[in-house]
Amino acid sequence: MGHFCVNCGAALVLRTLDGREVEACPNDDFVLWRDPKVAAAVVVESQGGIVLGRRAIEPGYGLWCLPGGFVNHDEDPASAAIRECREEINADVELTALLGTYHVAKRSVSSIIGIAYRGRVVDGGSISPGPEMLEVAVFTPDALPPLAFPSHREVLARFAGAGVPPAFPPSRAQESPKPPRTR
Ligand SMILES: [Zn+2]
Repeated sequence: MGHFCVNCGAALVLRTLDGREVEACPNDDFVLWRDPKVAAAVVVESQGGIVLGRRAIEPGYGLWCLPGGFVNHDEDPASAAIRECREEINADVELTALLGTYHVAKRSVSSIIGIAYRGRVVDGGSISPGPEMLEVAVFTPDALPPLAFPSHREVLARFAGAGVPPAFPPSRAQESPKPPRTR
């Protein structure tokens, strides 16, 4: 995989730690732990529907998504959610509830832990497409356009079903959970 130690520059080698295979330095204690990235998404309510943006970038060019994106290192997830709404749908949004969390498993790149919020456009606010969107529009939950991400479809399905649930049920647990890691 071509990764190198941040301490000594040596090529990392595979080692089994706590029952999982990791890349580690042959000379010192550096281990390349793979951590998930954190993303936030918002179900923004407006004009009796939900605001979606049609993507002007990959992945998912031309498809629709909830406003959202990755949480920066120095950001609270709620602040990131509000920032992404400003950037993507040009709206001042206030968050009204935490809908829950979701997990997007990936192999070659970092998996994603998503945090889904419910929000609404602040009174008198308008929506318009930011630079990463071709257009923005309001949809009812029973007439959604093609979505870019299955995770957003799941968030919307849970939002639409049975009113607004207080929180997601626990994620589907993986079989044979790995033991907790130690650093
Ligand atoms: Zn090293």
